[in-house]
Amino acid sequence: MPDIEQLTRDARSDLEAAATVAELEAAKVAHLGRSAPLVLLLRDIRELPPEDRGRVGKAGNVARKELEALAASRHDALAAVELDDRLRADAIDVTLPARSMPRGTLHPLTQTRRLLEDIFLGMGYDVVDAPEVESEWYGFTALNTPVGHPARNPSDTFYVAGHDADAGANDDALILRTQTSTAQLRAMQLRKPPLYVVHPGRVYRRDDIDATHSDMFHQMEALAIDEGLTLAHLKGTIESFLHRLFGEELDVRLRTHFFPFTEPSVEADVQCFSCRGTGDPSAEDAASGAFDRCRVCRGEGWIEIMGAGMVDPNVLGVVDGYDPERYSGFAFGIGIDRVAMLRHGFPDLRMLFQNDLRFVRQFAGRP
Ligand SMILES: [Zn+2]
Repeated sequence: MPDIEQLTRDARSDLEAAATVAELEAAKVAHLGRSAPLVLLLRDIRELPPEDRGRVGKAGNVARKELEALAASRHDALAAVELDDRLRADAIDVTLPARSMPRGTLHPLTQTRRLLEDIFLGMGYDVVDAPEVESEWYGFTALNTPVGHPARNPSDTFYVAGHDADAGANDDALILRTQTSTAQLRAMQLRKPPLYVVHPGRVYRRDDIDATHSDMFHQMEALAIDEGLTLAHLKGTIESFLHRLFGEELDVRLRTHFFPFTEPSVEADVQCFSCRGTGDPSAEDAASGAFDRCRVCRGEGWIEIMGAGMVDPNVLGVVDGYDPERYSGFAFGIGIDRVAMLRHGFPDLRMLFQNDLRFVRQFAGRP
């Protein structure tokens, strides 16, 4: 018969010697597991002579309880030590200096677009979105641009799908829109008058690719439709907008022009903010002798800034709820890239799209 005291001493010694939770588990299996001598002794207690059963059973159970309690308390102690070790190994030293992350900045075009949006939001306009891939209907037909108009030619416009060279037009064909005026119809279909919206976005033209143009550029379209709007409202809005853009009261002049979707149409010029309309070079340029006239307006005294006009009644009539007998409206489009060039005084629009960090970083943090 196994010696219970000896078994207990061995088990106690192994449980106490275990240095990790894993070692403790192994000792528990050896001394308290199903095939441990003490456990087997208790299981087979009936095989002992009857006079021994009570004494051995009692001593065995006492020993087992003691060993189980010892194993439990050793487990708690070892687990706590191991948790401490893991926490120490994973510790984050908050006193270390941070790794510096390169910090981005808003592109000068984004800065300018947001400035334009802010000005119009301040005048009560909403900013709306519109697709860049448009149907011929939105791009031309609904904007009063007839079949045969040069803008509809694939040499001027990027066709994405469905261009029908024989028919000359297919209202369902897809184009990259050539102007943000496509947003006019989109906004009118979504909202009822009165309507005051602006839409900034990208436009695409094949015919503008040359040394100083880009086949992609940015415009902002403004559209106002209400009862009783006249050319005077258009002029007042343009003046108010340009004054806020350039931060001062510069003269604005309207010249007659033609756009298919406005009647009458005008082009708006703003007095040159650099020479104040004189056409003279800046003091610095004059001193250097490199320029004999204003660099910004090329001596003209005026800067061409936008196309505008009263919305053609044919365009109003395209959308339900916009009765041309009741409503009138005006629209204008302004080149966002061009405004950025004017504000920051860089010479080539394409610099905006070349992603040269030396160029764009100059505008970091500017409003
Ligand atoms: Zn000038």
